[in-house]
Amino acid sequence: MPDTHTQLSDQSIPERAVHKAEACQEPPPPARVMSIHAHPDDQEFTVGGTLAKWARAGSEIVTVCITSGESGSNERTAPHLAKEKLARIREEEQRAACRVLGIQHVEFMHYPDGVLQPTLELRRDLTRLIRRYKPEIVVCGDPTMWFYGNSYLNHPDHRAAAQAALEAVFPSAGTRFIFPELLDEGLEPHEVKKVFIHGSEKSETYVDISATLEIKIAALKEHKSQLGDWDPSEMLREWAREGAVEHGLEYAEAFRVMILKE
Ligand SMILES: [Zn+2]
Repeated sequence: MPDTHTQLSDQSIPERAVHKAEACQEPPPPARVMSIHAHPDDQEFTVGGTLAKWARAGSEIVTVCITSGESGSNERTAPHLAKEKLARIREEEQRAACRVLGIQHVEFMHYPDGVLQPTLELRRDLTRLIRRYKPEIVVCGDPTMWFYGNSYLNHPDHRAAAQAALEAVFPSAGTRFIFPELLDEGLEPHEVKKVFIHGSEKSETYVDISATLEIKIAALKEHKSQLGDWDPSEMLREWAREGAVEHGLEYAEAFRVMILKE
């Protein structure tokens, strides 16, 4: 076997191993974060503990809510309530939840709830926000997840939001000649360094949220129109215990982390 081949293998394999090891470690709080979700309350159910932790460490965070959740749910939404009115209520609840978490910015994109598609239009609109806010880390869902356990079919809006978010991160946000109309708006390319994907079957990074779990619960409780009398505390504690103990933690949120740029 020629030497060059051996060298190539020796160089490439450890390099990948380094990436993998780093992906498993909880990173230091990033300077700027964008948290992208389909509906008001998605963020609070899934990643609120991590965002509260980073906000308290000084990260600047923007929450992007693609729809305003105006389709609500049959159980919790009075049938006579106009969609427009519910949208305003849910936007206010999302703002209140962000205040609890310590998040400074909230962007509502006003796409229709319940029929979201990962269109080029949505990808471009997310690219615009990424270029404007320049996050180091983007937090989003996993577009490949159709099933959770045997009783929850992932909402198609969640898959669409996650797909569009990932496609906006790469290649759209960092590539000058994709969406040239954004250059006309003065928005230069921006390269996101890492993507934190929640709800993935391949989670390997556990963020310790022991100090912020109660804040996560308090933030979720701001979504009063969706919770009614239900107290989500015990369910969130149970979720946060899943997988945490084997990583030496009491409460955690789990992510698949993609490192795009060192
Ligand atoms: Zn949702």
